[in-house]
Amino acid sequence: MESDQKSEPKPESKSEPTCDDLFSCTLCGDCCKGYGGTYLTPADVEAIADYLGTTPQALVSGYTQISGTRRVIAQGANGYCIFWDKVCTIHPVKPWMCRQWPFIPAVLVDVNNWRAMAASCPGMNTELTDEHIHACVAKKMTRRSE
Ligand code: SF4
Ligand code: SF4
Repeated sequence: MESDQKSEPKPESKSEPTCDDLFSCTLCGDCCKGYGGTYLTPADVEAIADYLGTTPQALVSGYTQISGTRRVIAQGANGYCIFWDKVCTIHPVKPWMCRQWPFIPAVLVDVNNWRAMAASCPGMNTELTDEHIHACVAKKMTRRSE
């Protein structure tokens, strides 16, 4: 293969998009709405409990629910994540899943997943080529795992 998929596409001119053009969160909160989407790792539970000044046990019993086989953040009466209040109230320690979004492995499996995810996330740019999206997602994921 001639191209390195993990390298950022080289702009051909000043108007060419870069990886910074791929995603810009509008803070709309749409991804924080709905039940069962945000699962918690054990590290998430520890970090959020510490941030809130409570115990992991109290966090689990007071702020989470079971969805299928996974423990997820509970949904508030307004339909949003229980930690949403116009902003994410646990932003510094928000779950791994929230920190990763939208740079997730599923996009590397099939770039169409990026376009499907973008239907519910206005911050995701779909006006880019599949190659560009793939390369930039791979690059962002690599950076986050460093
Ligand atoms: S739906 Fe997308 S743009 Fe809106 S808050 Fe979530 S990540 Fe940001
Ligand atoms: S933890 Fe924060 S970013 Fe994640 S779904 Fe809840 S409010 Fe949104």
